[in-house]
Amino acid sequence: MNCNKCQDKAVIKLQHGSLCKKHFIDYFESKVFQTINKFELIRRDDKVCVAASGGKDSLSALYLTKKYFLKYNIPLQNLNALIINEGIYGYREKTLQDLQDFCKDQDINLKILSFKEFYGKDLDQAYPIINKITGKKPCNICGVWRRQLINIGARELGATKLVTGHNLDDESQVVLMNMFKANVKISAKLGPMSGISNHENFVRRVKPLYLCSEKETRLYALLKKWKVEFTECPYVTESYRAEVREMLNNMEEKYPGTKTGIINSFLDTLPLLKEKFKDDKNNHQTTNKPNVCEICSEPTNKKVCNACELKKIIINNDTTKTK
Ligand code: SF4
Ligand SMILES: [Zn+2]
Ligand SMILES: [Zn+2]
Repeated sequence: MNCNKCQDKAVIKLQHGSLCKKHFIDYFESKVFQTINKFELIRRDDKVCVAASGGKDSLSALYLTKKYFLKYNIPLQNLNALIINEGIYGYREKTLQDLQDFCKDQDINLKILSFKEFYGKDLDQAYPIINKITGKKPCNICGVWRRQLINIGARELGATKLVTGHNLDDESQVVLMNMFKANVKISAKLGPMSGISNHENFVRRVKPLYLCSEKETRLYALLKKWKVEFTECPYVTESYRAEVREMLNNMEEKYPGTKTGIINSFLDTLPLLKEKFKDDKNNHQTTNKPNVCEICSEPTNKKVCNACELKKIIINNDTTKTK
């Protein structure tokens, strides 16, 4: 299999032909830059924070955001990285170290926030306490706290945009899951730029890898020879999402372009979805004035946000009585 552009040995077969290492890297990088420009994800006056995890997606997002800054002469002091240490023994330490090395090498300032510091407990400690009372799974707790801390961290860094490493696979899985579960109004919150647009406490989230598949992103990280930790979080379990992922991968294998087809159709309907659900009180895209939590002042649609609710459960049920 040879590259369609130069006849060198191809490293990947894409829907419209095969590419060698050099031409794949060019293709991948220009796709990311075109995504940023087309959806206006980053503007010259933006201060950008990249939410990183040390995995291939976030390293690609971080590296390419820096490359975008350099290409368009945006001052590099307006770029920072952020990682949340959930406190998952045997998992986070390794990815944290890899990310610290990466940021040092790339000369990017890295901010680290932890569950322990904000909520009084690591996830490993919080999970058994919360699970006993509510039956919640680790990922439910992790998701709520991570989302809040990423917003807090980005705001503390003065960011006007928060870059995440979500890719085509992530988004197409969520779009399908929402459709299968008749939760289409949740999809109104998705898209290359998401989050509340008119809330001073909320930093808008942008996804430069939106049109890049998992396979392409994995190959890009591999060709860049980045040290990427393939250790999985020990709390990862078989889930509904894993089944949708497998189904989509099978479809993509049989009918290349399936995932892109889902996302292109979704992008066509997204303006209609946003319009339809714009007044929904649970929709963060709402144009109504969003509320803030009466305890922590973070954006929420309730009186007390989910993150504070979880923290309260710990305070009321922790036999060791820390924080
Ligand atoms: S798998 Fe679940 S617990 Fe582990 S990092 Fe992801 S969301 Fe958190
Ligand atoms: Zn080539
Ligand atoms: Zn709160």
